[in-house]
Amino acid sequence: MKPIPVNEILLDGNEKKYLLECIETGWISSEGPFVKQFEEQFAARVGRRYGIAVSNGSVALDTAIAALGIGAGSEVILPTFTIISCAAAIVRAGAIPVVVDSEPHTWNMNISQIEEKITPRTKAIMVVHIYGLPVDMAPILALASKYGLQIIEDAAEMHGQTYKGVPCGSFGAISTFSFYPNKHVTTGEGGMLVTDDEELAARCRSLRNLCFQPQKRFVHEELGWNFRMTNLQAALGVAQLERLAEFVARKRSIGQRYTELLKDISCLDLPIAKTDYAENIYWVYGVVLKDEVSFDAEEAMQRLATYKIGTRPFFWCTHEQPVFQKMGLFNNVYCPVAERIARRGFYIPSGMAIKSEQIEQVAITIGEIFS
Ligand SMILES: *Cc1c(COP(=O)(O)O)cnc(C)c1O
Repeated sequence: MKPIPVNEILLDGNEKKYLLECIETGWISSEGPFVKQFEEQFAARVGRRYGIAVSNGSVALDTAIAALGIGAGSEVILPTFTIISCAAAIVRAGAIPVVVDSEPHTWNMNISQIEEKITPRTKAIMVVHIYGLPVDMAPILALASKYGLQIIEDAAEMHGQTYKGVPCGSFGAISTFSFYPNKHVTTGEGGMLVTDDEELAARCRSLRNLCFQPQKRFVHEELGWNFRMTNLQAALGVAQLERLAEFVARKRSIGQRYTELLKDISCLDLPIAKTDYAENIYWVYGVVLKDEVSFDAEEAMQRLATYKIGTRPFFWCTHEQPVFQKMGLFNNVYCPVAERIARRGFYIPSGMAIKSEQIEQVAITIGEIFS
């Protein structure tokens, strides 16, 4: 049997044409015209005024934290169930990450636990939409305005998704995206900050570009980073963005097909197709082993690997990360829902280029393993 990788990408639109244009014109650095074009088109797509392209989704979070002036003495509330980049950005800025547990069905942050975590030091809530369904934003927006908190929206998995019809990536002070190859829009490596605030946008642009000054270029009042996106990456981004609606439809049909094929396997919890406020876009197709299964995700993934089927484990909880525990963070923090899905959840091949025969093959194999 041919291996089925966990992610395969689709680059069969204008990617080649725009990349050739970069090479033929000699514009390959961040100064090239595709960068601005990608920023403008992407921002417009999510209903924001400004887009600031950066080198990946992780540094987009670092930039957001720095641009909002979050530093020592500040606390930021975020889900424990997310990628390391979220808390890393907070910790690197000298601020303190405060985590909340997950909601058992959507795997998103449990919004009913946010208010009890707010202290006089809380500066922001970092909202992270997980795996294809958006977080319920309305109650969070209400809390943010009640307590005067900023919202940073990590929409890295949400290209083309909406919350009650409003684009993900349009909430709060600033939103971030990633264009890693498993995201709905890819530039190989890449990321974007979007905001409606002109001053915040200018701060992000400056931070991304070493805080060079327009007048005295090599005299620095502040430290920034080189987080610039290249014209080559942006060329891919422009081509990919042209097809976003098609990509979202494609991912939805992959997810729906898996659910159809796996729904009778009683020992698996499958992603939910929709909530009151959104339809799943299945950034990845995750499954969680029910408690009656005697083994965990690691064992399930190993079994699938013997059939050459690629998988990835779910995120590991932020509060259980050895790197943070060694720093003395998260003493006596327990998040039973997230701890459970981190151990019992994994995702199966669901990249943009997956074929229906491959989906069927994966489903049949899972059926055999769990029967
Ligand atoms: C992918 C991802 C990131 C990081 O993006 P990179 O481009 O890989 O650095 C951040 N947050 C979430 C929720 C992600 O899924």
